Amino acid sequence: MAEECIFCKIAKGEIPAEKVMDTGELMAFKDINPVAPTHILIIPKEHISTLNDLPPEKSALVGAMMIAARDIAKKAGIAESGYRAIINCNRGAGQEIFHLHMHLIGGRPLSAMG
Ligand code: 5GP
Ligand code: ZN
Repeated sequence: MAEECIFCKIAKGEIPAEKVMDTGELMAFKDINPVAPTHILIIPKEHISTLNDLPPEKSALVGAMMIAARDIAKKAGIAESGYRAIINCNRGAGQEIFHLHMHLIGGRPLSAMG
C-alpha cells in the first residue's frame, strides 16, 4: 500500500466510500463527483499506480475489473441502454488518482470519445 494513497485507504476501510462490490481482490464504490447517473470506480485492492505499472502476470486483474463493470452495469439497469468502462492512464488522459481504477459510466447518452 502506498502511504498517502486515497484509494488504498478506501480499500482498507480507512476512508468511507459508498461501496457497491467487495471481493478478495477488487472493490467498487460510487465516484464522489459523478459525471453521469451511474458513475462507479472499480479498483484492485493492491496498489498499482497506473496501467503502465501493471505487470503482465497480473493482467487477469483487469479482466476481473471488466467483468465487475459488466455485472455492476447489469445490476444498475444500464446494461441495455449502454455504458462505458474506462481506464485513464497518466495526467494527459486525465488521471488524478495514481491507483489503478476503472470508471463505469452510464445512465445517460454518452458523447463520442475525444
Ligand atoms: P481519474 O481522474 O484519476 O481517472 O479519476 C479519479 C476519480 O476519483 C474522479 O472521478 C474523482 O471524482 C474520484 N475521487 C477522488 N477522490 C475520491 C474519494 O475520496 N472518494 C470517491 N468515492 N471518489 C473520489
Ligand atoms: Zn493505492
